[in-house]
Amino acid sequence: MNSKIAIIGGGASSIAFIDAFIEKQTSNSPSPINITVFEKSKDLGPGNAYQGDAESNLLNTKAGYITIFKDKPGDFFQWLTLYRYRWQPLYPNLQVAENSYAPRPLFGMYMANAFDRIVKKAFMKNIIVKVIRSEVIQLTENSDPLPITLKTLCQQSFKFNSVIVACGTLSKSPFSPPINSQIHHTPYPISTLRRNIEKSDSVAIIGARLSAIDAVIGLIENGHHGKITLFSRSHLFPFVRGTQGRYKNTYLSAEFITQHYTSLTLSQLSQLFIKEMCHYQQMHPQECSEEIVFPPTPIKDLSKFLSSEMVKANQNRGWQAILYDTNSILALVWEMLKDADKARFMTTMMSAAMSMRVSIPYENASKIKSYIDNGQLEYIGGDTQIETCAKNILSVKYQGGVSHADSIVYAVGSPRDIYLSDSELIRNMVDTNIAKAHKFGGIDVCNTSYALLNKKGKRSASIYAIGEVTHGCFLFTSALDIIVKHAHNCAKSVHHDLNTYTQHALAV
Ligand SMILES: Cc1cc2nc3c(=O)[nH]c(=O)nc-3n(C[C@H](O)[C@H](O)[C@H](O)COP(=O)(O)OP(=O)(O)OC[C@H]3O[C@@H](n4cnc5c(N)ncnc54)[C@H](O)[C@@H]3O)c2cc1C
Repeated sequence: MNSKIAIIGGGASSIAFIDAFIEKQTSNSPSPINITVFEKSKDLGPGNAYQGDAESNLLNTKAGYITIFKDKPGDFFQWLTLYRYRWQPLYPNLQVAENSYAPRPLFGMYMANAFDRIVKKAFMKNIIVKVIRSEVIQLTENSDPLPITLKTLCQQSFKFNSVIVACGTLSKSPFSPPINSQIHHTPYPISTLRRNIEKSDSVAIIGARLSAIDAVIGLIENGHHGKITLFSRSHLFPFVRGTQGRYKNTYLSAEFITQHYTSLTLSQLSQLFIKEMCHYQQMHPQECSEEIVFPPTPIKDLSKFLSSEMVKANQNRGWQAILYDTNSILALVWEMLKDADKARFMTTMMSAAMSMRVSIPYENASKIKSYIDNGQLEYIGGDTQIETCAKNILSVKYQGGVSHADSIVYAVGSPRDIYLSDSELIRNMVDTNIAKAHKFGGIDVCNTSYALLNKKGKRSASIYAIGEVTHGCFLFTSALDIIVKHAHNCAKSVHHDLNTYTQHALAV
């Protein structure tokens, strides 16, 4: 196999893909494989999530559990110990334990090192990894022996056998209305937000999930003293992470589900969850059991909610361990649900599920509570509408009134509609029918091979996608262990397709 592969994006998916591809490659392969990684930012490895930014952006996974290498559990923590001399001067006051939540930029340093390590490891298997620092804006398919032409922002063209789209979380386009220099379409990097927002500004943050919390803490820890208001459309806020470790599910597991079901309904899923909870309690009789209400009660008083959550977070929270372990079956469960149940889940349950599933460290909960208690932060639930009045004054209209703001920050994650995203590449791919927008968000891929599907459902022979752009197919992709799993599965399928292609070419 003498192949040319391109990966668009040099973040976690890219590293995990190369790692998996190396595994597949036999060490005595005579002809080299060329992998070209296209990255639009200056760094290779950290991607959007772990870029050099405010120290207050914390991981939501404990330092001892997070790793980019599938077969090296605890790799990040080992790296922290080995490379203390590198990171400690930048974080002189930081104490990291296996159970603590490290700053994400520190994890980014580990990811940059992981990228270097993987390039060297690839070389040993005759895989040459090259990097081009440029944004890819277009892909075209043709019938050449190298069937994909890739075009960069500086109008250079390159040809490849296979292309893997791994461009991470897309932000809301800065050109999506309303346009105003004081409306920020993403909170990241927080360091840019800090520069562009006056410390005395009244700030409205649209969204109340992890990125909104990063924005509030990042601004206030930098001396922001103006009022900040968090607007939560769902009336919810993330739950607080307990002290539990990992747990292996018995009923909410691939083995049990595939043995007992051919398809699933939401009510069967909820029964499986209750069964798993009972099993967990039998296995951990010494732990206090919590009553789980789903969907959670809308929050009226955030300080009260956080007080109660912080008490509970001082102990093990079995339901969180169970939910975490479902990372390994989410794609399977999503595939087994009927479309009507998927749509119902997306419209009526997704926000509630996210508030419980993607919880926050105690440390962040305690900071948010203190800002609420001292009156600097306000929390408002319900739908909002942004308005620009005369003299360019911004206001946020909500059910109970209108709030004027000097700056507005959207902290709402990847836009479901890819046309509202900042990715010219993905918009072009959909426009030219190389890809199809998925009805639940992102673009559509075959859920076993990760090959793109076009509007007619035809599978691309050479273009694949992994990571957040595929979240409509897999429901939830925003956790490193899920990203790594998909990258490994995709590498297996790309390796297989390239081998088949080579054998076919040799035969004719
Ligand atoms: C803010 C945030 C915090 C997170 N925190 C955690 C956490 O604590 N724990 C956890 O388990 N998971 C977390 N995740 C989820 C997950 O681990 C990350 O999203 C993961 O890094 C995604 O990897 P990726 O390679 O798919 O995307 P990224 O790491 O974002 O990499 C994509 C790369 O592609 C580049 N790119 C994009 N478009 C182009 C283009 N057209 N041309 C060239 N380059 C391009 C980008 O510059 C970027 O470097 C977080 C996600 C986010 C967004």
